[in-house]
Amino acid sequence: MTDPHSDRLPLSFRVGHWNVLCVGASSRLGGKAERLYRAGACLFWWQSLPPAWLGRPGVTVQSDWPGEGAFQLVLVDTEDGEEKARWLSWCRDQGLAFWMAGEPEASTVHFPSLVERGPLRIAVDTQGLAPTVARWLRQRLEQVLPDGLGAVLSLTQKRREQIEKRLPTPHQRRSFWYRLLEGQSVHRASLDGEERIARDLEEVLEESAVHSPQGQVFLVGAGPGDPDLLTVKALRLLGQADIVLYDRLVSEPILNRVRADAECIHVGKARSNHSVPQDRINQMLVDYAKAGKTVVRLKGGDPFIFGRGGEEIETLAENGVGFQVVPGITAASGCAAYAGIPLTHRRYAQSVRFVTGHLQDNTANLPWHELIDEGQTLVFYMGLVGLPIISRELMAHGMRPDMPVALVSKGTTPEQLTVTGTLESIVDQVNRNPVAPPTLVIVGDVVQLRDRLSWI
Ligand code: SAH
Repeated sequence: MTDPHSDRLPLSFRVGHWNVLCVGASSRLGGKAERLYRAGACLFWWQSLPPAWLGRPGVTVQSDWPGEGAFQLVLVDTEDGEEKARWLSWCRDQGLAFWMAGEPEASTVHFPSLVERGPLRIAVDTQGLAPTVARWLRQRLEQVLPDGLGAVLSLTQKRREQIEKRLPTPHQRRSFWYRLLEGQSVHRASLDGEERIARDLEEVLEESAVHSPQGQVFLVGAGPGDPDLLTVKALRLLGQADIVLYDRLVSEPILNRVRADAECIHVGKARSNHSVPQDRINQMLVDYAKAGKTVVRLKGGDPFIFGRGGEEIETLAENGVGFQVVPGITAASGCAAYAGIPLTHRRYAQSVRFVTGHLQDNTANLPWHELIDEGQTLVFYMGLVGLPIISRELMAHGMRPDMPVALVSKGTTPEQLTVTGTLESIVDQVNRNPVAPPTLVIVGDVVQLRDRLSWI
C-alpha cells in the first residue's frame, strides 16, 4: 500500500514577500501568524484585528471578500462549520495553499515544530497528525544541540568564501567541520561571544588547512554486535571515513552508521574461508592511506583481542602510514554482560582468561594443565567447532565434569541465545540444539550466577 502522506514534502520557502490571510483569533492561529510575521510576511486579518495585533506595522484588516491572486497563503481557525466549508471551497477553487485548524488531511500546509540554531533549522513534521510527538522530539533535539551551534554557524556563513579559499579540498573541509562541531566552541559560544568563536574558528581553520597528502588508518573495534556498544570515538570515525574495510563479524546496524558516501569493503573472514587473504588486506590499508584516504579498518569486538590487529598495524608502520587504534568492547565482556554472567566474582573467580579455541590442525595444543586452575573463568573464542576437544581435554586434565559451561551465540544482538550445561553435558546439548556462530564458550563457576543475574 502506498503511504497516504507520500504526496507531502517538507520544503523551505522564502515567505518574506507573501500576503497571508488570517481567519480567526485563536492562539494556535496566532502562533503560526507570528512565525510568518517574523519572517517578513504581510498579514491581513479577516473582518477585525485580534487585540494582540493592534498597531503592528504590516498588519491590515481585510473587510471585503478577497479577489483572485491577492494571497499566497490562508490560515483558518473557526468553529463555524459553514464558514469552514466556504473557506475550504474558496481556497480549493483558487488552488491556494492553506492551513485549516483541526483538518490535517484537508490542509495543504502544515507547520512543523522548529528547532533553530542560527541559520540551522530542523523541522519536525508529523503531517499535522501528532503534534505532541513533534513537540516531544523538538524538546529532545533542543537538549542535544549545543546552544552555541547557531553562533558558530552564523559566523561560518559570514566567512564562507574565506573558508572555501583556505580549504580547497573536500577532505580538508570535512575535517574542518568535524573539528569545529566536535570542539569546544559550539558549547561555549553563547557565553563567550563572537570574538572568542572567531578565534576558535581561526584555530580550526589553521589545523585543517595543513594539507596532508597521506591519509590515515584507524583500526577500530566495533564491539560484539549491538550498535549501542560502539565507543563515541568509533562512531565519530565512522562518520568521517572515506573507506571502511570490515569483517564478517561487524553487524549490519553498525554498518548503517558509516558515512553515507563512504565506500564499504567486505574483507572476510568466515572460519577457514578467508575471503581476502591477510596480506592483501594489509596491502589495501597501505594503498588507500597512501592515496590520501581516511581509512577505517573495522573489526568485531576489540581489534587487539584475537583480531590480528597487531599484524595489520605492523605493515602500516613498516610502510610509514599513520595509524590509530580504537579499542572496542570484546565479545567476552559483551556476551558475559548480556547473558548475566560476571566473569570474575569474589567468591568464584579471581581471574579470567581469554583463550583461543581455534585449535590448529585439531590437535589439543593448549596449556591444559594451566587452564584447570581453580578460581578462574575461561572464555574460549572461536571454540564452537573445537568444543568436543576442549571439554574432553579439560576433564582429562582434572577439571570437574559438573563444571558449569555457557555457550553464548550471537551475543548482544537481538538473536542472542545462551545455552548452559556442564563440561560433561554441553557437547550433547549442542548436538541436539545446534547454535549459530559466532559463539563464545564460558567455563567456570560464575556461570551458575546467571540464574539470578540474567536481565534479558
Ligand atoms: N576481536 C574479537 C574476536 C574475534 S575472534 C573480539 O574482541 O570480540 C572471533 C570470535 O569472537 C568468534 O568465533 C566468537 O567466539 C567471538 N565472538 C565475536 N562476536 C561474538 C558475538 N556477538 N557473540 C558470541 N561470540 C562472539
